[in-house]
Amino acid sequence: MTRVRLRAEIESLPPYRQGKPADAASFKLSSNENPFDPLPSVRDSIDLDSFNRYPDALASTLRSRLADRYGVTPDEVHIGSGSVAIIAQLLAAAVQHGDEVVYSWRSFEAYPLLAVVAGAVSVRVPNLPDHRHDLDAMAAAITERTRLVFVCSPNNPTGSIVTQAEFDDFMAKVPPTVLVALDEAYIEFCRDPDVVDGIASLRRYPNLVVLRTFSKAYGLAGLRVGYAVGPDYVLDAVRSTAIPLSVTLQAEQAAIASLDHEGELLERVDRIARLRDDLWRALVDLGWDVPQPHGNFVWLPTGDRTEEIAALLDRHGLITRPFHPDGIRVSIGEPASVDRLLTALGEVA
Ligand code: PMP
Repeated sequence: MTRVRLRAEIESLPPYRQGKPADAASFKLSSNENPFDPLPSVRDSIDLDSFNRYPDALASTLRSRLADRYGVTPDEVHIGSGSVAIIAQLLAAAVQHGDEVVYSWRSFEAYPLLAVVAGAVSVRVPNLPDHRHDLDAMAAAITERTRLVFVCSPNNPTGSIVTQAEFDDFMAKVPPTVLVALDEAYIEFCRDPDVVDGIASLRRYPNLVVLRTFSKAYGLAGLRVGYAVGPDYVLDAVRSTAIPLSVTLQAEQAAIASLDHEGELLERVDRIARLRDDLWRALVDLGWDVPQPHGNFVWLPTGDRTEEIAALLDRHGLITRPFHPDGIRVSIGEPASVDRLLTALGEVA
């Protein structure tokens, strides 16, 4: 049969991977989700009686709320259907076919995928042996064709952070015409006082955009709401690339209610961070060379044994995210899942 012509690079793209669903006997630790049930107060804030109406295309109420929070104008905030949508929009706004996008590797899997969709050339800079971004090499990888650089702190999947001093040093080397997107999807879980402060850095760097999400710390992954803070003209261009009306009223309402009930939510974040730190110390005591985690997940550098160890964890009812041949990312879930992980890893010779 004659087939229609599609873009070859799109046809050969692997699909976005998602961990398999959990059954009653297993824990899903493959998507860095928040293990707590939604807060009743957040659930009750969602208007279920107006599905027949389109949402506000700009999610203006949430946008103003975030603008007030960060001391910027509403035009310096953009709401997207998850921050992953904003990553696609940044690429669409900044990159023409053949332009380059620089990011560390490993980092968030959506960067290469969406770079291909945008027709960009990916320039992947290997992480340092201790799993942190190699910011010197990333700065050195910037060329005349570079339009966008992703910096991920805490980094998915390695959990490492970029410090403010490292970021300042890096930004001093980035030409002011190159846009830098600082992806802070996991920032609320970070307890290191030296971590780069994206929002505060915006005043210093006019070529910076900060990405944040309600999916992780605020537990709204299924509702799809994330945001960017940055220069108004950059975000105007981002708004021009948006699929219209993709942030629902219900997502906007839940995000606002989450800010209203932030204290309770951040207490949960604290519990996850404490559980993560206990797990990290226990892993180090077991002899694992695990980088200090700063997000809601740990990185097990399992190398060539990645598939084998992920299968072992699977047999213990732990659904994790293997990245062959580098390592396994395990989300911090219920306390019982952490106990089970330690038991299972005790079997690894
Ligand atoms: N950035 C990073 C680093 C992530 O790990 C994720 C989610 N896995 C996202 C962005 C996107 O999150 P969301 O689209 O749910 O806001």
